[in-house]
Amino acid sequence: MVNLTTKKNPIPEQKPLVRNKNFKEVAFGYSEKTAINEAMRCLQCRTRPCTKGCPVNVRIPDFIAKVAEGDFEAAYQIISETSSLPAVCGRVCPQENQCEGNCVRGIKGESVGIGRLERFVADWHARHSKPEDAPKPAPSNGRKVAIIGSGPAGLACAGDLVKQGFDVTIFEALHKAGGVLVYGIPEFRLPKDIVQREVDKLLAMGVKLVTNAVIGRSISIDELMDEEGFEAVFIASGAGLPQFLNIPGENYLGVYSANEYLTRINLMKAYRDDYDTPFRVAKRVAVVGGGNVAMDAARCAKRMGAEEVYIIYRRSMDELPARKEEVHHAQEEEVIFRLQNNPVQIIGDENGYVQGIECVQMEMGEPDATGRRRPVAKPDSNFVIDCDAVIIAIGTSPNSLIRTTTKGLQANKKGCIDADEKLQTSREGVFAGGDAVTGAATVIKAMGAGKKAAQSIAEYLYAKDNKSNGGTDK
Ligand SMILES: Cc1cc2nc3c(=O)[nH]c(=O)nc-3n(C[C@H](O)[C@H](O)[C@H](O)COP(=O)(O)OP(=O)(O)OC[C@H]3O[C@@H](n4cnc5c(N)ncnc54)[C@H](O)[C@@H]3O)c2cc1C
Repeated sequence: MVNLTTKKNPIPEQKPLVRNKNFKEVAFGYSEKTAINEAMRCLQCRTRPCTKGCPVNVRIPDFIAKVAEGDFEAAYQIISETSSLPAVCGRVCPQENQCEGNCVRGIKGESVGIGRLERFVADWHARHSKPEDAPKPAPSNGRKVAIIGSGPAGLACAGDLVKQGFDVTIFEALHKAGGVLVYGIPEFRLPKDIVQREVDKLLAMGVKLVTNAVIGRSISIDELMDEEGFEAVFIASGAGLPQFLNIPGENYLGVYSANEYLTRINLMKAYRDDYDTPFRVAKRVAVVGGGNVAMDAARCAKRMGAEEVYIIYRRSMDELPARKEEVHHAQEEEVIFRLQNNPVQIIGDENGYVQGIECVQMEMGEPDATGRRRPVAKPDSNFVIDCDAVIIAIGTSPNSLIRTTTKGLQANKKGCIDADEKLQTSREGVFAGGDAVTGAATVIKAMGAGKKAAQSIAEYLYAKDNKSNGGTDK
């Protein structure tokens, strides 16, 4: 029987003014009873618009039907057919622009809580699976594949290749695997033991992980292929190079890229007393940008003890690119939104420390060539926000190290590696995907790219055999 309530079952959460002082997860997740009740809101549409909105085409109505029956393990198996990281995606996917944005229930009320149900199913499975259910290593086919980067693209690719018997090694520049999932997205949105669980699963299946290995510096792709016997390489090195505003004052002490700020807190655990990560607590923090990265930085700043935290963004609330839930949570946690404002300079004191940020008010101008109205500065509208830290969160691009140290590897003007629809690059045997190819995007798109790369690499290696056997293999 369909549950016709127009609102999603709420997800229990820590109270805003309690949680903005700790790093524990904000939401607690559905109980079994609530998950079943929410699943019964699904109309089981024959046209499956939700699945069309999912970048990896999870069979959403099918898994929800299993939740409604109380068969949570069957629901997990359905999601796992196409998604390698359901506990992660259930927590961080921008569902409102994907599956839930297409949900028919959303026309006259709130969409089905697909993300909340995915999270519930993944957490239920993790709580109930037994050690003997752990995936076993597949018999090795002896073919070596190198993966550069251990973010969602690298992890998904490794999982799919190792299941087919490939000898997979992930090379990761940092000391911990997980990419943005560990160094960028904070613990209160994505607990790190969830990411570690996924990494451990891969290691149990036989994937090798080499940390502190910066490809292009420790060893090059050419050396991996010519000297170390890797027959194929997947570049999944993300887009970790921060962009700056290029305004006066960006070199003052107390100006950070969001990446550096978040890495100190999340990867290097500056919020924990048992770590001695250097961290300067600021009283008033200005975060420039309007995406998930900006929201994460602002919410972290609050938790690190800032009294006032501002989001400075040049467009309006409707145009904030962050997930709706993050914006809502940031507002509840008393982050102050200074919208339609743009920084023009950072002001410092005589010792070189940040003292304030000068902004100008913005208004909507004429539509540009794309038809989108661009914000333009209002004349004589300058004002200063006093602050002792500024965090720049206006975007990132791929680091140039790999493309400048790999012969024949082509990239576009933005530094993103060129790859065709099979994710093959301009170098034979070298594939690329995730943010390294698209520029900063989403977890699920990176995961989808990793899965696609695994398929292409397997096809490439089998075709290579076929060629060397004179085409006698199937
Ligand atoms: C703070 C923050 C919050 C975000 N929030 C969300 C969200 O809520 N929802 C969402 O869907 N997306 C979010 N994103 C975007 C999402 O995390 C990324 O799109 C996704 O992680 C990209 O995956 P990837 O595997 O391509 O790269 P990454 O996750 O960036 O992983 C790349 C890995 O490669 C390693 N590496 C780089 N160069 C080398 C090298 N030369 N040698 C070896 N290793 C190397 C890096 O250290 C890193 O571990 C967020 C991003 C950030 C920064």
